[in-house]
Amino acid sequence: MKQLIKSILPQIVIKKYNGYRAYQKYKGKEVFCPICNSYYKKFAPFGTSKRESRKCHNCGSLERHRLMFLYLIEKFNFFDKSSKDKIRLLHFAPEKMFYNIFSENSGIEYTPCDLFPKQYDGKTKITKADITKIPFKDNSFDFILCSHVLEHIPNDRLAMSELQRVLSKKGDAILQVPIDFKREKTYEDPNITSREERLQEYGHPDHVRYYGKDYKERLESCGFTVNVDHFISTLSKNDIFKYGLLESELIYHCKK
Ligand SMILES: [Zn+2]
Repeated sequence: MKQLIKSILPQIVIKKYNGYRAYQKYKGKEVFCPICNSYYKKFAPFGTSKRESRKCHNCGSLERHRLMFLYLIEKFNFFDKSSKDKIRLLHFAPEKMFYNIFSENSGIEYTPCDLFPKQYDGKTKITKADITKIPFKDNSFDFILCSHVLEHIPNDRLAMSELQRVLSKKGDAILQVPIDFKREKTYEDPNITSREERLQEYGHPDHVRYYGKDYKERLESCGFTVNVDHFISTLSKNDIFKYGLLESELIYHCKK
């Protein structure tokens, strides 16, 4: 019966109802999502992680999205509209909560890209783009955001070189991937091709490697200068809890 009702109701109604239920269940002031300005008792569980407070009930942000958002504000004053020059932003595989914010910001000249643009609906057109063959000229962007994409790309060095090519000389790129910090070297094996094996070896059926501590060197070998920023260490314990962040997360801030 539940399934039948679900199949009849429009998605927007189901979303609103789920939002209302989450609000009732999790209402409180203990945690705060800076992306959508929502307070809750705790965030929702997500994935196979043992951490039970991860996902924002409203915008769907996870720890890494909230950290990125705070970083963009703190380090780059990213949403300041007073600057006369717009930020030319290239955003690969745009996360929905950021896509909406960037699309609406008049200080940002926004170029969201994806290999499969049809999966998105929104007011800014998504450019179809292969990250290993980016359809833009050299030095085209002041800022590049590419989070949790490279671990899906077989020739990730070619993708990194392409990102480096289209970044302007004074530009900034934030290139995030999941990293296993217990590994010195990135683990990848072209013989591992099935979804089952990839899930077992890399922790996700669509990933083609598990990056290790040498991720920085890999970026550097493609022409980037990399600042591995432990930005989270500048935040207080209270803020780390309030924003629901992961203390181990590092930010890979790259320049040309
Ligand atoms: Zn949120």
